[in-house]
Amino acid sequence: MTNGPILEQRDGIGVYGNYIGGEWTSSASGDTSENRSPSNPDEVIGHFAASDEADVAAAVAAADGAFAGWSGTSAIARANILYKASEILASRIPEVGRDLSREEGKTLKEGIGETTRAVAILRYFAGEIQQPIGEHYASMNPSTLLFTLREPLGVCGIITPWNFPIAIPAWKIVPALAFGNTVVFKPASLTPLCAVHLTQALAEAGLPPGVLNLVMGSGGAVGDPLVADDRVVAVSFTGSDVVGNEMKKVASDRGAKVQLELGGKNPAIVLADADLDHAVTQVVNGAMMSSGQKCTATSRAIVDRRVAAELTERLGATIGALSVGDPLLDSTQIGPLISADAADRVAGEIDTARQGGTALAAGGGRPDGLNGHFVNPTLFSDVSSDSRLGQEELFGPVLAVIPVDDVDEAIAVANSVRFGLSASLFTRDISRALEFIQRIQAGIVHVNSETAGAEPHVPFGGYKGSSSYSREQGKASREFYTQVKTVYFDPPPSSGA
Ligand code: NAP
Repeated sequence: MTNGPILEQRDGIGVYGNYIGGEWTSSASGDTSENRSPSNPDEVIGHFAASDEADVAAAVAAADGAFAGWSGTSAIARANILYKASEILASRIPEVGRDLSREEGKTLKEGIGETTRAVAILRYFAGEIQQPIGEHYASMNPSTLLFTLREPLGVCGIITPWNFPIAIPAWKIVPALAFGNTVVFKPASLTPLCAVHLTQALAEAGLPPGVLNLVMGSGGAVGDPLVADDRVVAVSFTGSDVVGNEMKKVASDRGAKVQLELGGKNPAIVLADADLDHAVTQVVNGAMMSSGQKCTATSRAIVDRRVAAELTERLGATIGALSVGDPLLDSTQIGPLISADAADRVAGEIDTARQGGTALAAGGGRPDGLNGHFVNPTLFSDVSSDSRLGQEELFGPVLAVIPVDDVDEAIAVANSVRFGLSASLFTRDISRALEFIQRIQAGIVHVNSETAGAEPHVPFGGYKGSSSYSREQGKASREFYTQVKTVYFDPPPSSGA
């Protein structure tokens, strides 16, 4: 046990502990797992606690024990701690943004942007928790005071992916804590250092012991026992649909509240009247930033056939000119994929599509001379909507152009996938834009801007297989992290005295 997350140094590299019951501590087994940079696999980022069900049990017991005290704390006191955490994290933005970029592989600019967003989330909920959250109703009985309260749920299990390793944990953990819940946090195995930074800022801000507990380790060893523990009354998960849907069955069967945010296959529709310069910039940003590893990334450009050839040529020129390399360099626009497995899988999908006869308009393959898990930004033209490229989330820097005859076909193609997270339309026609907003099956809709990008104070989530009908962020988060109590308050009968 130490006062900080680094328990010891091993050959000059930090060994990072879990945070359980207010203490930084090694895993029960003493095991650790090494994490390496995806842009330079020779660089060891750190050694991190490799936990199992014993650590989960200790963390859940700590969170359970802390719940009565934390939920009984005034909202103002909780807000003060969140605000202090925002200041601590804000003071570390350059360091944390750099660690994010080293650990996850997105560019330094994106790493700093994401850390800044986590700060904004802390600030937002420090304010939000001071807003009124109950309602006063008229009653049939004039002497009855009829109102609702919102109360916390208890211990929440938070399971997060690697692709937004500080913003997604923040947008789940911070509202959970703000509304009076306690938390056991299982981050993605590939990005534990960002989880440590967020936890450390909250711990240093004065969270009482046990209110937030960080348990690092694999999905099977840590995620499974967390989801199965009866003391965990709510589970919020972001990740792949395969893992999320399995997890939901286990948690729902034992009566827990469950929230899933899953994958996407997000379309950008470009109509013939669109400003093509603007559309090219936005579609390329949506498809390629973070190497296409955003749940809201654009993976399909559904284009009016009359401008498809011109748009494809311009997209290809822009994508082909993107600079791929070390994400810490200012000149780099596209970093690596998260892991060797991910790079092999995406490169394999590109090869399969090429061998199947799909026309490559830019990229393909891997860049020469780079040591990390890089894949060239890639564009396919004339893609069929019912192909793998047209239907499956590849989660890499790959964009498929699907030509269509008109807006009806464009919307039908856009809606033809099992996901419905975000969607864009590029047009100057207001009527078409309104029609698109009404008919598109997506939880986040953009007109004349890229599919990626979400502001922290508005609801976030998808339609169909992208979500579980709940929403995160902003005021929407209170729906998940609180339950409603309806109060009928009558005066005692008059004694007649
Ligand atoms: P993933 O493999 O499903 O992992 C997500 C989290 O679940 C990780 O912490 C993982 O742990 C854990 N996990 C794995 N197996 C588990 C199990 N059996 N029980 C409990 N937890 C388990 O997803 P990913 O590869 O990290 O993330 C990419 C996916 O996330 C994409 O599909 C993307 O679209 C989606 N995503 C969605 C949103 C959204 O808001 N809709 C946002 C971002 C990403 P390990 O790391 O130890 O495997």
